[in-house]
Formats: sequence, C-alpha cells, structure tokens
Amino acid sequence: MSKRLAVLCLCLAVASPAAAVTAIRAGRLVDPETGRAAVNQVILIDGEKISAVGNVAIPDGAEVIDLSDATVLPGLVDAHTHLGITYKDIPEHDYYYLTYVMESTPLRAIQAASNGIQLLNSGFTVVRDLGNNALYADTAHRQAIEQGWIPGPTIVNSGIIIGSRGGQFWPTPEMEKYKGIVYPEYLDADTRDEIVKAVRENMLFGAKVIKICVDCKPWGYSVDDMKLFVEEAARAGLKVAGHVQTPEGANRAIEAGIWSIEHGIALTEEHHKKMAAKGIFLASTDTPFTDYSSTKERFDKTVAQLKSAWKNGVKITFSTDMDYYKTGNPMNRGELTINFLKTWKAAGIPNADTLKAMTITGYQCAGVEKERGPIKPGLAADLIAVKRNPLDDIDALRDVRFVMKDGMVFKRDGVMTPEKFFHAGPVKGWNKR
Ligand SMILES: [Zn+2]
Repeated sequence: MSKRLAVLCLCLAVASPAAAVTAIRAGRLVDPETGRAAVNQVILIDGEKISAVGNVAIPDGAEVIDLSDATVLPGLVDAHTHLGITYKDIPEHDYYYLTYVMESTPLRAIQAASNGIQLLNSGFTVVRDLGNNALYADTAHRQAIEQGWIPGPTIVNSGIIIGSRGGQFWPTPEMEKYKGIVYPEYLDADTRDEIVKAVRENMLFGAKVIKICVDCKPWGYSVDDMKLFVEEAARAGLKVAGHVQTPEGANRAIEAGIWSIEHGIALTEEHHKKMAAKGIFLASTDTPFTDYSSTKERFDKTVAQLKSAWKNGVKITFSTDMDYYKTGNPMNRGELTINFLKTWKAAGIPNADTLKAMTITGYQCAGVEKERGPIKPGLAADLIAVKRNPLDDIDALRDVRFVMKDGMVFKRDGVMTPEKFFHAGPVKGWNKR
C-alpha cells in the first residue's frame, strides 16, 4: 500500500462512525464446556467478534437483540459431512458412482452452497467437509462464504480424498486406465513419493484437512505411510482424517497417530481405549434408524459402539456422513443432520456430553477453537438460540430460532434473514484459497 493511500484509509477510519455494537439479551446462556447455564446474561458484539459476556451494561446506542425468552448457546458442528454430493434412490439407486458421472463440479458446488445454507439454518456454524466434492467444489464453496458472497458455515474442507489406487471405487481396467474414471473423486497415491505429491496437490488447491482412505482396499496404508501423511500435512499446519472400515486399519491408524478416525463401524472397545489414551478424535458418523436410513441390526451396533466410545472417554464429535436423499422425504439437510440425535439418545449419552460433542469437541477436531466456537470475548460472534434448554432436553436443538454468524444475523424468530450475507465483491478481501 502506498503511503498516501494508507493515510487516506486512516482518515476514512477516523471519519466513519464506530462499528455498531450489538447487545444480545439471553434469558439463558449455556456453556457446553461446563455443562451449565446462567440466566439473564448479556453478550456484546463488536463487528464480527464477541467483546463481552456476562452481567455487563449495554452501551448507549447499541442495537439490542432480545432473546430473553430463549436459550442461547454456541453454534453446532458436524465433524464429518459431504456438502457437495447427494446420491439418490432415483435415478441412481443410491449408487454414487453414478452421481459422480451425472453431476458436474459446478452443479455440485451450487448444491454445496444450498446444503451449507440449510445447515446454517439448523444451527451448524462449523463443518468438516470431508471429500467427494468433485474437482474442489468444496474449496470454491468455502471461498465464496469467506469472501462474503453467500451465507454458510465455517468450512474445514479436505479437497480430494487420497487413497491407494482406485480410492473407494473398484473400476474396470478400461475405465480406470484409459478414461481416468477415479479422478477427481479420489486422488491416487501408492508410493511414498506419490503420498507427498498428493498431499501437496490438495494443499495447493485449498484443502484445510487431509482426508485419506486408510483401508478402502485390502492392502491399505501402512503405519509408515500414514506417518508420512501426518508429517507432510503438518508442514502447512494441516491434520489427517482417516476413513477406517476394518479393525486392522483402525489399529494402524491409531498406531500412526492420525488426528481423527472417520466412521466407528470397525471399532472395538480396545480401539476406543487406545484412541482415548492417544487423544485421537472420533467422527463415528452414527446413522439413525429411520425410514430413509440404516436397519435395526446396523443401528443397534452403531448405538453400542457410540456408547462404548463415550464410556471409554474417546474425544467424540457429532458427525453424520450425510450425503443421500430419499425421494419423498420432506426433510432438508439441516433436519437430516440434526436427526442423528436419535442415535445419541438411544446410546443413553447425557445431554451435556452430547452438547459438548456437538460444540467444544467439534471445534477442537476442526481446529477452529482459537478463532470461533465458545461464546467468549475475542472469538467470532457465532451463536444460536432455541426455545428450551438442551441440557434438559437435547431435542430442543431441533428447533433453532436464531442464528448469528460472524456477528451478522442469519435467522431471527425462526425465519432466515440472510440479506447481510450477500455482497457484490469480496468484502473480506480477496482470499487466494
Ligand atoms: Zn464420509
């Protein structure tokens, strides 16, 4: 910036009125860290950040938002979702190979934007978006939110899932070798050189977490392979999330010390104990049994595994793997996501612990806790309000009445009011990715 321009900016800053302070009167304020609620609290918001919380005086001229008949709490986290893919019973018979060949990256980016809005509407202010986003639709989506073009949650995105050749697909030789059918749904990396290259490629194109297929193939990744992933990702401050579907894969992932294990399906109590000892996060994606998902047998197993993870002190997050749609189901992505509470209730997990998983542990797993999450001075003003106290009844979270993201009101009195989120240019400054 030239000196003259800098002076001009300074003058403008002085001349313009001070950024408006907003004051929220909270009838009840829940702190998920302690599992306690305080009554009649005030939250002051200065621009995008929280400036004070507690029994504080409301400054003259502050805009007051009256939530004195509501319960205010921090925004929710889905630690494992897929915003840019929805496989359907019609026309693709729930077969996502087909979704992938029928829906372009631009279409999936637009779908991701819609899904992001639906999630924010249900109170999810942070998500980890873990792959299957075609050719970096997730990066584009995150950028669009960060630059102020559309509303959406804070997104920690993985770019393309890295796996040994084929990823989660078992393609024909002709489609794989001559048509390159696996890319861009998966990024192949078999050798150590390829692992380094794939991690750097994802980081170049905007990944904020590295997602790998630990054992999508019977050979999978070795402990040393995964240590290399962890080491290479760490160069840019990224963590490694591992899709795990076998007990052996889980053993190797735990030994390698990856950041988070995705899916709980293969985990035994022994795994849970080891994960707790090593502080590995769990995004177990606990699908409820409904008329659109799971079976009674599968659900019983899911419930038992979630209960074991909780009982053994694993750092459990709320996570869904939400990426499907059944024709005729009227629920939106936000409602489908919050419906995973069914599993947590069936597992008998106390409301305070469920809420902690949906907030504090989620922020930590996503690595955002220093910037946003808890309702504390200095952090981003992300918060939601519901009618009743979720510590008494966790289903209170199904009816989110108010959402604030980065100090802007997205939803008020149960109705989306997103106009402040739409800008003609990158209001927060152009961000290269
Ligand atoms: Zn997934």
